[in-house]
Amino acid sequence: RAKEAGRNTIRFFTMEMDRQVQDRLEIEQELRRVLERDELSLVYQPQVDAGSGRVVGVEALLRWHHPRLGMVSPLRFIPLAEEIGLIGPIGEWVLREACVQARRWREQGLDELRIAVNVSARQFRELDLPERVAGILEETGLAPHLLELELTESMLMGNVERTEETLHRLKHIGVELALDDFGTGYSSFAYLRRFPIDTLKIDQSFVSGMVTGSNTESIVSAIIAMAHSLGMRVIAEGVENATQQRQLFQHGCDQMQGYLFGRPLPADEFAVLAGER
Ligand code: C2E
Ligand code: MG
Ligand code: MG
Ligand code: MG
Repeated sequence: RAKEAGRNTIRFFTMEMDRQVQDRLEIEQELRRVLERDELSLVYQPQVDAGSGRVVGVEALLRWHHPRLGMVSPLRFIPLAEEIGLIGPIGEWVLREACVQARRWREQGLDELRIAVNVSARQFRELDLPERVAGILEETGLAPHLLELELTESMLMGNVERTEETLHRLKHIGVELALDDFGTGYSSFAYLRRFPIDTLKIDQSFVSGMVTGSNTESIVSAIIAMAHSLGMRVIAEGVENATQQRQLFQHGCDQMQGYLFGRPLPADEFAVLAGER
């Protein structure tokens, strides 16, 4: 009986794997046509000043709504887009769309609102990224200091010399640079000092683990102090309740982002929220 159960389990796993391969193939095929079918959109999440609660920035987050598959998470399709070589055009679409939107908000009177855009690993490694960014800024008329590119630790720690060069080329254009999901990778203190990073984003896992008096709270406090000593601004991600907000504020965190202040919203709804705060 045990043997039979084992065989059934194996058969079940095989079917399950077939289904996953099938799903992946289908998503891959559909992804190849995502731009021509105009199925991508951006949603916008507010970033508030810790002291005043005013909306000072916004992160653009990518959404793919497929008529049959429904919403596909960026955590699922971005890695796939990277693998099959589609991240170039998708990343470029995101950058342009975000800059156009930021420019529009500026015309509507939302002044000095910084827009943050996520950059993928492969996009970051493309040699002409700085030229592409400069081109889109020129095309859309957005002031460079109002665009912030979000990078992750794993992207930066590979080829350090080349990373440093790319970062400086981007800074030369005048855009801001943020280190996303900080604390989940393997940053070296030496490199953090060397790289021209403006903003450090504390990963949401630290924020959610920040029970009073816990190790995590001390770590968060230390990260904020370290970032400030390097002249970086600190923003906490995934702030969901008032206790986290108070703790972060007490430790000197500059800005916050999370459901407590607003979920990612379509552009028009974001504008209403930002205008009210
Ligand atoms: P991320 O850049 O770290 O974005 C933050 C994620 O946390 C977003 O998930 C956001 O919706 C979610 N979030 C915000 N506040 C809270 C909160 O209070 N609690 C919780 N539990 N979650 C919160 P989302 O939109 O599903 O994006 C997931 C990831 O996909 C992003 O993580 C980013 O790595 C990637 N991504 C999204 N858009 C793009 C894009 O345009 N390009 C690239 N390359 N990656 C993107
Ligand atoms: Mg991000
Ligand atoms: Mg993040
Ligand atoms: Mg994240």
